[in-house]
Amino acid sequence: MDIKHELSVNQEREALRLRCIVGNDKLQAVWYQLKEMKLSDKVWAESMEKWQLANEKLAVICTQLEILGYDICLYIENGVKTKQCLGGERNILGCRVCPSKIHYWENELMNLPSGGDPSIPAQSVSKPKPKKVEDAAAKLL
Ligand SMILES: [Zn+2]
Repeated sequence: MDIKHELSVNQEREALRLRCIVGNDKLQAVWYQLKEMKLSDKVWAESMEKWQLANEKLAVICTQLEILGYDICLYIENGVKTKQCLGGERNILGCRVCPSKIHYWENELMNLPSGGDPSIPAQSVSKPKPKKVEDAAAKLL
């Protein structure tokens, strides 16, 4: 692959990534707006249908992103997940669509202390110091 082609793939991937993030935010915002409005059943059903369609469109964009080889969560910055996939703060979903190969939401669902990152063993999050080490250290001092 020549450098020019590589560059354009990177640009396309970044553009798709941003579209997914913007789309996630929009869908989320619209969902809350709709929930606040007192809509008739008919209008609600129509709105939901449109909203579902928008979700599907976004899922297609997300699939394109995956095809271009982007397979980590949209909300990973410098290796740190900045948003939960499932309801975090104020129950706001981070990833309505997510290209991640790691199913963070499954882990979040199980409420692991690692925050859903299976690469972090749960026990390393708050590993209590073994008593024996403390005792040994006390003897040394
Ligand atoms: Zn995600």
